[in-house]
Order: sequence, then structure tokens, then C-alpha cells
Amino acid sequence: MTTEDTGVGLEQTPDQVVLREAVRELCSSFGDAYWRALDAERGYPDAFVRALTEAGYLAALIPEEYDGAGLGLAEACIILEEANHCGGNAAACHAQMYMMGTVLRHGSAEQKKRFLPPIAKGELRLQAFGVTEPNAGSDTTNIATTATRKGDRYVVNGQKVWTSRVAHSDLMLLLVRTAPASSDPKEKTLGLSTLLVDLREAKPGTLDVRPIRTMMNHETNEVFFHDLEVPVENLVGEEGRGFRYILDGMNAERILIAAECVGDGNFFIERAVKYAGERIVFGRPIGQNQGVQFPLARAHAAITAADLVRRQASALFDAGRPCGAEANTAKLLASEASWQAANASMDAHGGYGFAEEYDIERKFRETRLYITAPVSNNLILSYIGQHVLGMPRSF
Ligand SMILES: Cc1cc2nc3c(=O)[nH]c(=O)nc-3n(C[C@H](O)[C@H](O)[C@H](O)COP(=O)(O)OP(=O)(O)OC[C@H]3O[C@@H](n4cnc5c(N)ncnc54)[C@H](O)[C@@H]3O)c2cc1C
Repeated sequence: MTTEDTGVGLEQTPDQVVLREAVRELCSSFGDAYWRALDAERGYPDAFVRALTEAGYLAALIPEEYDGAGLGLAEACIILEEANHCGGNAAACHAQMYMMGTVLRHGSAEQKKRFLPPIAKGELRLQAFGVTEPNAGSDTTNIATTATRKGDRYVVNGQKVWTSRVAHSDLMLLLVRTAPASSDPKEKTLGLSTLLVDLREAKPGTLDVRPIRTMMNHETNEVFFHDLEVPVENLVGEEGRGFRYILDGMNAERILIAAECVGDGNFFIERAVKYAGERIVFGRPIGQNQGVQFPLARAHAAITAADLVRRQASALFDAGRPCGAEANTAKLLASEASWQAANASMDAHGGYGFAEEYDIERKFRETRLYITAPVSNNLILSYIGQHVLGMPRSF
């Protein structure tokens, strides 16, 4: 029984219940075999992403005036949670849902009109964001990729790493340095800017994309920029203030990732409970042994707790209230809970957990990412220590 079944504690509206059912229905056409085959070949789930786009789900957060569904983050969470709950992997397309928030909140009227309706209709894909760099890592304000203004263009040079979904995106939101870093620690977030790069317009030789093969099926890359030209009209917001714009989208991202983890967690528990009820060893179902039951019960309790904080976080976000503490807490708890559930499920399946055809090992590899990305849990703990508990800042 998941929190959505009990209905108590941040209840779902009737529309949300209908939405959840509809997403489940859509996802049921993309079963285990679909995801397993893609995992084996490290393929991109084109048909799944197309189906979500055509159903309007990836445009959930785009307001109706720009042809989106005009839904809240609570609904967006339901969509991603269910995609993962059904055994899929929303990481292939989740950024399409929230990256446009930077344009929506900080873009000019002209940019919103130009980009948001085609993104909502699925004609333009904004799946990629380039923030992380090899020599900066979690210390984002230390990035070194530069954009130098030359007339009506910026000329970009440098390197990003772990830039996901580039091959399946038309646009990339790119964080660049437009002024040297300040030596004053209070001003270290200044001098960074956000560009919307149209990948289709990159001249040959200016953009070098090198795929990184990872332990799970995740289209991610190193990206090198050699005098890549970006029109000045693609600067989002004010030059030098881009770090704030990226930071602004992070609460939504953390809450959505938490929802995916809750979906993963429920997947692991449901599969394990079913298997433990059917697998007979020593003349009885293995689930009758408390050594098998308790880790699953403990993981279920952790997922339930994480789900409640996730719901609280999205409710605050949708009400326009501060939600940094809740968004960070939800991401921390949900990523830990899904990993706990992954291990409990693996244990309950015994040797079969390692067999590809049971899908536990695949989801196990997929869910592990969220302890590290899009932000490492150490950085989340540091946020809680510093901003929630008021402890001294350590970096
Ligand atoms: C599959 C995948 C997809 C990704 N997709 C994207 C993407 O699309 N776009 C993008 O921009 N980025 C993406 N990332 C990057 C991701 O956000 C980073 O990997 C993550 O933020 C951690 O940065 P790092 O790998 O450089 O680790 P580092 O910053 O080098 O950290 C390494 C370890 O040290 C710890 N650490 C570092 N400093 C401290 C400190 N002060 N206190 C305590 N602990 C500390 C970290 O918590 C971590 O455990 C992706 C990563 C992966 C693996």
C-alpha cells in the first residue's frame, strides 16, 4: 500500500487520481521487455518519449497561454513517478519538463513566445542542460567555459561533462562565464550567464559531442565548444546573473527527482513482495520469513516517509511558497529510500535478482544515480546544515 492508496496525508485531487491512472495506462504499453531491450543496446526510448509528448505530459508545467497543460508540480511529479513505478526510466526525458522553467521565469516575452509553444507541442526539444564541468564538479560557480561577446553573438569556448540527452535535443540550456570570477566570496555567483543554444545551428567543428558509456542506460556526453556562436538574443535574463536562474530551477528538479525515486521504490517493493509470495524454499514462501519481510517493510516505510515530504514540497512549490528545505529533504530521503528498496528487492530475489529478465538489476543500476546526480546528497546535507539548521558554511 502506497501513500496514494491511503489518501491520508496530502490527499490527491480527483483530477490527480485520473491523471495517475492515465499515465499508468500509457506506461503499460511500454513493458519490461521494451526497457530491457533498450538497456541492452543503450538505446533511447524514442517511442516512449513520443507517447508522453503526444499525450501532453512533458508540457505539464508550461502554462496554457503557451499551449502547455498548465498543471502544477504535483501533477508533474505524478507523471514521472508513475513512469518509474511502471518499470520505465523517466530520466530519458524529465529535463524537458523543467528546463523550460528558466525561460518561463527569466526569459523575455519574445523568447517565451518563440520557444514555449513549440516545446509544448513537441516540435522543439529542450532536453539538455550543460552545467557540470570536469574541473568544477559540484562547485558550479567555479566553471570555466566562457562566452565572449562579439557584436550580435556570443562565442563559446570550453568543456562540459555529463551533458545528458544532447543527441535527442534541439536546444541546450548552457551555463557560461561571461565575466571573470570575482575574488570576493560574496560575489562568486556573479559573472555567469545562461544561454539557450540551438544545437541545430552549430557550425561544423564548433560542437564536439562524445558519448560516455555509463553503468545504466543514460544518454550522457562530454561536450567541447570551439568558437561556438550563439546569437545574443538567446541570452536568458540578464548577463552575469545566470547562476541564480539555474539555482531557481533546482527546487523543481529536486522534487521531480524525488518523485522518480518514490516510483522506483514502489516498483522494487511491489516486485519483491510478489516474488516473495511465490518463491517456495524450505517448503514455504520466502516472504513468510521475517528475515525477508523486514527489510522490505523498512524500505516501504522509508519510501512512504519520503513520499510525504515530496508531496509537502510540491504543495509548497505550487503555492508559490519557499520550499528549499522540503525540496532538498525530499530528494535526500527519496534517493536513499529507493536505494534501500533496491537492495531489499535484490536480496529478496536471491540469485534471480541478478538475472536481466527479472528487471531488478536494471532498475537497481538506474536508481543508484539519484544519490549522486543531479546533485550529490553530500551537497544536499550541506544545504540542510547551513540553510535549515544555520550551521557554519563549509565551502
Ligand atoms: C549519468 C549522469 C547524468 C548527468 N547529467 C547531467 C546533465 O545533464 N547536466 C549537467 O550539468 N550535469 C549532469 N550530471 C552531473 C552531476 O550533476 C554531477 O556528477 C554531480 O553534481 C556531482 O559532481 P561531480 O561528478 O563532479 O562530483 P564531485 O563534485 O567531484 O564530487 C565527488 C564526491 O565528493 C563529494 N564532495 C565534493 N565536495 C564536497 C564537500 N565540500 N563536502 C562534502 N562532500 C563533497 C561529492 O558529494 C561526491 O560524493 C550527470 C551525472 C551523471 C553521473
